[in-house]
Amino acid sequence: MKPIIPFVVLAICLNINCEGQVNTSNATIKNTQQSNKKMTTSTNPYFNKTSKEKINISEQEWENTLSPALFEIARKKGTERAYTGKYDNFFDRGFYFCAACGNKLFKSDSKFASGCGWPSFFETYTESSVQYITDETHGMIRTEVVCGRCNAHLGHVFDDGPKPTGKRFCMNSISLVFEKK
Ligand code: FE
Repeated sequence: MKPIIPFVVLAICLNINCEGQVNTSNATIKNTQQSNKKMTTSTNPYFNKTSKEKINISEQEWENTLSPALFEIARKKGTERAYTGKYDNFFDRGFYFCAACGNKLFKSDSKFASGCGWPSFFETYTESSVQYITDETHGMIRTEVVCGRCNAHLGHVFDDGPKPTGKRFCMNSISLVFEKK
């Protein structure tokens, strides 16, 4: 939750600034409406927990739709700080969905305490829940994991996980939405 706080504070400050100028510019009014629109999954028209239809929209549309924190991780391939995510030390029973589109990604039965600082799973909900991309940034060769429906960046997968798969899907909490069973 911690990384979200500065964005919330920033958003509140921006709104106050925008509202202070609301009579001076139509562009300012539009920006105020857009920043208000970005905050939750309920205002995201692409968030759907049952649809399997692929989403292919522009980065500008994603930026208009997602919160700044989620846009930074999901579309700009950012990484939240270790040990700060809301699902890092969280083991309730249920399912994890893509925060950008609602695609079902993981079940809590596959979550384990990796100690790496990010929520970790040993398998995805189905094989098609995610897709894989070779990531050669930062002087390493890693396997990036993206949402199988909207291509949102979720994290990376490593070969040091527990049985039965030996995989560790190392995910950003911001990219996930949990729902209890
Ligand atoms: Fe998605």
